[in-house]
Amino acid sequence: MRHRDPVLMGPGPCNPYPEVIEAYGRPVLGHLDPDFIELMDEVGDRLRTVFQTENKLTFAVSATGSAGMEAAFVNFVGPGDTVVIGVNGVFGGRMCDVAARCGAEVVRVDAPWGTPIDPQALLDAHPAPKLIAVVHAETSTGIRNDLEMLGANKGDALLLADCVTSLGGIDLRIDEWGVDIAYSGTQKCLGVPPGLAPLTVSDRALAQLRDTPQSWYLDLNMIAKYVTGGGARAYHHTAPISSLYGIHAGLGVLLDEGLEASFARHQACGDALQAGLVERGFELFAAEGNRLPQLTSVWVPDEKLPDGMTEADVRRSLLFDYGIEIGGGLGDLAGKGWRIGLMGHTARMRNVHLLLAALDDVLV
Ligand SMILES: *Cc1c(COP(=O)(O)O)cnc(C)c1O
Repeated sequence: MRHRDPVLMGPGPCNPYPEVIEAYGRPVLGHLDPDFIELMDEVGDRLRTVFQTENKLTFAVSATGSAGMEAAFVNFVGPGDTVVIGVNGVFGGRMCDVAARCGAEVVRVDAPWGTPIDPQALLDAHPAPKLIAVVHAETSTGIRNDLEMLGANKGDALLLADCVTSLGGIDLRIDEWGVDIAYSGTQKCLGVPPGLAPLTVSDRALAQLRDTPQSWYLDLNMIAKYVTGGGARAYHHTAPISSLYGIHAGLGVLLDEGLEASFARHQACGDALQAGLVERGFELFAAEGNRLPQLTSVWVPDEKLPDGMTEADVRRSLLFDYGIEIGGGLGDLAGKGWRIGLMGHTARMRNVHLLLAALDDVLV
């Protein structure tokens, strides 16, 4: 494979912050070294600030965002539990699969892709669910789903939120909004390579932790006892040292910039990209009012494609001729549209201008 250094504007990994790349190169300490344990504790503190929570059980699961999803479900949902899940894209669908494998009775509330889920429809779907789950930022469509109204009206249910694409990119207030369980990933708006899943759990949810979840690796019991003071820190698995250096550095960059400044930067870049696309005759896919700045989904007009080129050919040209990676569409957008990320370090005005200029070159 030849070495390439693309501008990653696809919805998958984003370009890491330079400080993060440097952190990955640091000498590897032992996973029980006191200095490494101190760094892990600092990662927990930084995650609490970024999640805007006081939750004691806040740490980075050693695996990607999907493992965060599994950990969030398997520890709180078991056979026969009723779980209401909002689905308006790929990741809501994945949550239904995970919950079903835990043996849950899944009550699925669908909304058309590209539109937000009506929180009242989720609240009305079942009189007494164990848990209500929703994706805060649907990366498959570029839609933001409301959490605040769910948190305020959830009653006895636990509120679970997929925050893989929202954390660090748009406002997310775990405590104020009443979110009980939330997970994220490193490679979206945190500007860190893939490999860890930040997770936070409220005390209210912790009181309902299952004794023997149907997973050994993702069982939160050992770490929960440690954080609540009922047990000593114990060896569980060998932590991915370099990945933890990476998230520590990435969260440091984010907190130095400031959460509000990061949200504003994502918003300004998303606004500029979306305006530039509309100006060029593209139609945005996600409904106005709930559009994410960090993920833009668009229909690609046929008349803009050069003769004999498909949208996939245009993406190949962007990648190989310009070094810009954007994402293909999913669902109705497959083969007909794109998903363009502006996440973490990738959310820069220079990347917006680079992409728009490249599109002016390639398209009709
Ligand atoms: C990327 C993503 C995931 C999956 O994360 P992985 O790190 O790919 O396992 C889950 N939910 C959403 C909303 C995502 O964008």
